[in-house]
Amino acid sequence: MTKITVAKGDGIGPEIMDATIQIILAAGAELEIDEIEVGEKVYLAGNTSGIANESWETIRRNKVFLKAPITTPQGGGYKSLNVTTRKFLGLYSNVRPCMSLHPFVSTKHPIMDIVIVRENEEDLYAGIEHQQTDEVVQCLKLISRPGCEKIVRYAFEYAKQQNRKKVTCFTKDNIMKQTDGLFHQVFDEIAKEYPEIENEHWIIDIGAAKMADTPEAFDVIVMPNLYGDVLSDVAAQITGSVGLAGSANIGEECSMFEAIHGSAPRRAGQNLANPSGLLQGAILMLNHIGQTEVAEKVQNAWLKTLEDGIHTYDIYKEGISKQKVGTKEFAKAVIENLGEKPSILKSVSYANNSALTLPKYKRKPAAKKELVGVDLFVHWQGIDPNELAAKIKTIENGGVSLSMITNRGIKVWPDGFKETFCTDHWRCRFKPHEGVQISKANIIELLNNALNKEIDTIKTENLYSFDGKAAYSLGQGQ
Ligand code: NAD
Repeated sequence: MTKITVAKGDGIGPEIMDATIQIILAAGAELEIDEIEVGEKVYLAGNTSGIANESWETIRRNKVFLKAPITTPQGGGYKSLNVTTRKFLGLYSNVRPCMSLHPFVSTKHPIMDIVIVRENEEDLYAGIEHQQTDEVVQCLKLISRPGCEKIVRYAFEYAKQQNRKKVTCFTKDNIMKQTDGLFHQVFDEIAKEYPEIENEHWIIDIGAAKMADTPEAFDVIVMPNLYGDVLSDVAAQITGSVGLAGSANIGEECSMFEAIHGSAPRRAGQNLANPSGLLQGAILMLNHIGQTEVAEKVQNAWLKTLEDGIHTYDIYKEGISKQKVGTKEFAKAVIENLGEKPSILKSVSYANNSALTLPKYKRKPAAKKELVGVDLFVHWQGIDPNELAAKIKTIENGGVSLSMITNRGIKVWPDGFKETFCTDHWRCRFKPHEGVQISKANIIELLNNALNKEIDTIKTENLYSFDGKAAYSLGQGQ
């Protein structure tokens, strides 16, 4: 018997959760259920996190969480509970299998069986955003070595366990050389430890186009958070419906299982929604907690039901489907098929499908870190970069001098183009004089000088080298 936490969520959530629980219990799942309330009601009662403290305690105690989709109210400073849960509980890996069910579910991609392994804690989802000038806001994209190592290793271990042949990495490291560059570099490092599994890297734009057009070219695809969020919806949708895919959010201690779709409020309360996505999440959960035989039984019954043409509205197609059913009727049909196997679709065997245990991340010895300059960001309403350069040069000190000004990353001084559009957000890069080793005191002096000259500094970024290698991007055009 495993104790799990269940949240029925919002919109279609309660209907698909009832259907899911009914099916897995009928299949013999040994579960004790602790139900908690999360989502819209909690948000609107004034709790901006969408969850009460007692509910956190329940989730942390039980460690396994089955969650229906929730509605995050728009605006008003409500933080997404999904993102918070993934990060609070360290659920670093989001596994999203997307498989075609041809010829029973209409799809342009009959041969498609891919698993998206999405990094789940960092990237732009760090949610660190600031307005810095009248015209410019920023969002910090944070990528860490532990984040990359954990997710890439998870992808390879998953591929090994599931007998999958290839792991592909998607990044945009031709542009983001530091952040996506680190993800790609770690992928290359870890891939070497798995010589039996093929590996490849694609730039995300053409990779995404290829995945949408020729998904059969891929097997397991690992990617940073935002790309994984977007592309797993695309992948699920092109198998036939976003309502068909489930997801596992896995951490070292806790885990959360859900559908990949949202709360579809327009479909709520009408017995219309397809419970398959959440059911797939529940099957991933059953495997994770070691109830693999039950998981297998449910999956085979589900495949048989789809094969029988018993379809909810989202996948119903005249000529392919046999019977259009609601959420409850679909659940009933799956329950009736428990013990059966599909005859044309491939039945599953989950004999070795239990939770993966990965080695703990080991921090490497620190590199030799040297301060080699500073970027001073300035809010300035003028238009001529030469005028700004003249102003900024007055704050130089014995250690550093102005080497470049960029606007939105493009070099505008020295030798800028008059055609370049400039906002009120300027980056002024200072480099040490020849042969001078600078320290943070030079930066403080620079800021002090700027204050005296009434220059509106909005932030600084230190430029470092690690083991002698410059670890910051050049200006575009530099
Ligand atoms: P959505 O995924 O809820 O729905 C988009 C459309 O997909 C629906 O209108 C419906 O046509 C279809 N659809 C989705 N699930 C279906 C199902 N099970 N059966 C049949 N059709 C289905 O996306 P949205 O409308 O952008 O978001 C609605 C709300 O859900 C928002 O408040 C959003 O924040 C939230 N959301 C929650 C989660 C989560 O809890 N994990 C994930 C995504 C979105």
